[in-house]
Amino acid sequence: MGKVAVAFAAVAVVAACSVAAVMVGRRMKSRRKWRTVVEILKELEDDCDTPVGRLRQVVDAMAVEMHAGLASEGGSKLKMLLTFVDDLPTGKEKGTYYALHLGGTYFRILRVLLGGQRSYLDVQDVERHPIPSHLMNSTSEVLFNFLAFSLERFIEKEENGSNSQGVRRELAFTFSFPVKHTSISSGVLIKWTKGFEISEMVGQDIAECLQGALNRRGLDMHVGALVNDTVGALSLGYYHDPDTVVAVVFGTGSNACYLERTDAIIKCQGLLTTSGSMVVNMEWGNFWSSHLPRTSYDIDLDAESSNANEMGFEKMISGMYLGDIVRRVILRMSQESDIFGPISPVLSEPYILRTNSVSAMHEDGTPELQEVARILKDLGVSDVPVKVRKLVVKICDVVTRRAGRLAAAGIAGILKKIGRDGSGGITSGRSRSEIQMQKRTVVAVEGGLYMNYTMFREYMEEALVEILGEEVSQYVVVKAMEDGSSIGSALLVASLQS
Ligand code: ADP
Ligand code: MG
Repeated sequence: MGKVAVAFAAVAVVAACSVAAVMVGRRMKSRRKWRTVVEILKELEDDCDTPVGRLRQVVDAMAVEMHAGLASEGGSKLKMLLTFVDDLPTGKEKGTYYALHLGGTYFRILRVLLGGQRSYLDVQDVERHPIPSHLMNSTSEVLFNFLAFSLERFIEKEENGSNSQGVRRELAFTFSFPVKHTSISSGVLIKWTKGFEISEMVGQDIAECLQGALNRRGLDMHVGALVNDTVGALSLGYYHDPDTVVAVVFGTGSNACYLERTDAIIKCQGLLTTSGSMVVNMEWGNFWSSHLPRTSYDIDLDAESSNANEMGFEKMISGMYLGDIVRRVILRMSQESDIFGPISPVLSEPYILRTNSVSAMHEDGTPELQEVARILKDLGVSDVPVKVRKLVVKICDVVTRRAGRLAAAGIAGILKKIGRDGSGGITSGRSRSEIQMQKRTVVAVEGGLYMNYTMFREYMEEALVEILGEEVSQYVVVKAMEDGSSIGSALLVASLQS
């Protein structure tokens, strides 16, 4: 070999070595990055852990807070609001009734025809529209004019000019925000939740606002009931099955109500109802307990929300927030490693990842997780390998599993408070023979998260059995109520007329 050739070979060897070194270095670096991501995931799993012992602590805390909220005004983060609903629909109602439901994401309008027996319930044309986002921080007048206008259009379409016999139409207004009632058909807004911010409306009578707007449009319609969405769901549940005593909503937000004995509502001494009971709207979204497993993502989400330090339970279990928790985990992983490629600015946008997308990724059945890839692409993250897609599915699983299990603990807390969990409530122990006599208890459940996210529903139902045990679980029936809040509210307003 000549001198030139030797020199060339030497350079080639050096070059090959350095290429190899760079490749080994890269591989080590990438392994280190992967390790970082695995550590973040592990930390998330640990912080979201909900062993049954911990769930039982949440159950107890829920029951204790319910007592405290019933004992005195402001005695708990649970407001335990009176609804003035003491009789639920029985099935004997007759006539045509309307419901208008303002949820967190959607508003719905429907009409029901009732024939005087349970089997004759004809739900006509449920109209469902997203709430235009500008209305959420507009003015009271703009919001209610819009609702009245939508109702007018619905009536024109439904009645097709055939109204009518000059009969005033009865309407239930289903309103999914905390209200302090003064009667079944009146009450003032306590505060907004779920991103709504129309401050002038706080303290205003909500039914009166709607009635005013209907009158301005010249609509012959009377707001006969102002109904929390959970109370609507309970009404529909009870109409079909009188063992229904609890209703829970998992939609944009989350809340629960149940039938309580009036003598247990200590803060309203002397409260008398013919049935001896009243539906209590818990406003459980605001529940808090140190036993709730909280992560740094929850803390940041809360601090950056429009209602910091409020609705802590809702922020862990409801549709508005699950997507944003998942987004925060992905963002942190992308900041601390390069497994998602260059950091996408889209990932920093609050609420850009919706819970619908979380369930679509979680339940992606394609072998290469193409749905995950598609949704990540929408977030500005392209071409990630299957291994990374699997990681994203795992994040969705951890966040949703925690939500479902905590939701179950909340329900079990209510059952405990009313002595339907097999333990005899929080004040007295009961014998085994009494447990054998456990009453059948139906829990009506509705809301977009529960109805559409199978994994959430399965985790919730599985945890409920885990908490209650097989034996007691046999007496607890969870029933899905599609559009229960709106239909049930119409039934409730009907029951007031008979
Ligand atoms: P609202 O809260 O306005 O009464 P819904 O009860 O229908 O309305 O709940 C809507 C919410 O439910 C959505 O904002 C979303 O968070 C959640 N949701 C709806 N569909 C799905 C889905 N397929 N997967 C997961 N969450 C869903
Ligand atoms: Mg709803």
